[in-house]
Amino acid sequence: MRHFAHTPAMSGRPQAGQITVDLKAIADNVGILRKHSPGAGFMAVVKGNAYGHGLVEVSRTALDAGAGWLGTAQLAEAVALRQAGITAPILAWLYLASSDSGTIRAAVENSIDVSVGSIEALEAVAAIAKERGTRAQIHLELDSGLSRGGARPDEWAKLVEAAAAAERTAGPGGVGVRGIWTHLAWADVPVHPGNAAAVAGYEAAVGQARAAGLEPELRHVASSANLLARPEYHFDMVRAGLAMYGLSPADHLDPADFGLRPALSATAPLVMVKKVPAGTGVSYEHKAITHETRYLGLIPLGYADGIPKDISGRGIVTVAGARVRVMGKVCMDQFMVDLGPDPRGIRPGDMAQLFGDPAAGAASADEWGEAIGSHGDEIINRIAPRLPRTFLPVAGRA
Ligand SMILES: *Cc1c(COP(=O)(O)O)cnc(C)c1O
Repeated sequence: MRHFAHTPAMSGRPQAGQITVDLKAIADNVGILRKHSPGAGFMAVVKGNAYGHGLVEVSRTALDAGAGWLGTAQLAEAVALRQAGITAPILAWLYLASSDSGTIRAAVENSIDVSVGSIEALEAVAAIAKERGTRAQIHLELDSGLSRGGARPDEWAKLVEAAAAAERTAGPGGVGVRGIWTHLAWADVPVHPGNAAAVAGYEAAVGQARAAGLEPELRHVASSANLLARPEYHFDMVRAGLAMYGLSPADHLDPADFGLRPALSATAPLVMVKKVPAGTGVSYEHKAITHETRYLGLIPLGYADGIPKDISGRGIVTVAGARVRVMGKVCMDQFMVDLGPDPRGIRPGDMAQLFGDPAAGAASADEWGEAIGSHGDEIINRIAPRLPRTFLPVAGRA
């Protein structure tokens, strides 16, 4: 049984769609996740503009709430964090390994740890560290079955030997192996037996690294789902994305069961409410047709804003405390919802909740994800940068 809260029309009548990011939710979620991973360090994963939430704002909030590390895929995002004045440890794991790489140079100059999963990457990072006369901190990545980044097990011995040799190299610059990590192919399915096999392979790889003379202080494997479901995979640090944003990290893991709540919500005012007779075709190609007199609400968000195109018939928008169905194809900047045969006093300017916190009556981004055969992260990652984001501060902070 869901509880629907009535959304009061905001004062000042917003004219267009809005994204609100509740930083208190991020902070509270970090606190909850840290309780579920006692004894392990906590990396807040902020790749993809912090899953569409806002890179710098989320990073600051997560660090204040107790995260010790930030993680990005792209080096450019890690550099942006440094440019914003963030000094906490950062790991970035996606870049082109080449010794003339400006991005690697920026990482080394900005004390950003980089993932290394090949001899080429090791050599590129070591060359730049030597040239700069500084020590680059690296995390060796094992490909434990995802076939994405990282060295495959048959290349691992060569990589750890080379890394150990590079670490021993005397001189002002060089590399230090701070971490050894992997990302699991079944990361989002904690019950899958593939995880145990991959983690066993990972532990063997750590053993090989130690035998080669490396002393990595940070072993890290678990992302959100295994953080919540598999304490035995926590090792020295966990890397949390989805759960920190209050989204479901695995099919059977409901964030609400852990007290986690979504931080991001999308709302828009109804810009028009119109009565149409039975038999009226709605939106392009009349994919939806009214069977009786209906009231339609016009929502000023469309696929240019990241709203999926094919959600006609889905009851995933909340207006005046009730779910209403999307009617017809979503257009580039707008779409229609079916307010029913009686508009119940709903007027232009009343707010529609698209996705957000189910406890506040909104459908979750995960529900939107299900509507397109995907997950909530795809929905929030699609949100267009053009939409204004309003950040609700953590209480007590400016
Ligand atoms: C995205 C990502 C994470 C976070 O995963 P979630 O399921 O969102 O918690 C962790 N580690 C790596 C390498 C990732 O790419």
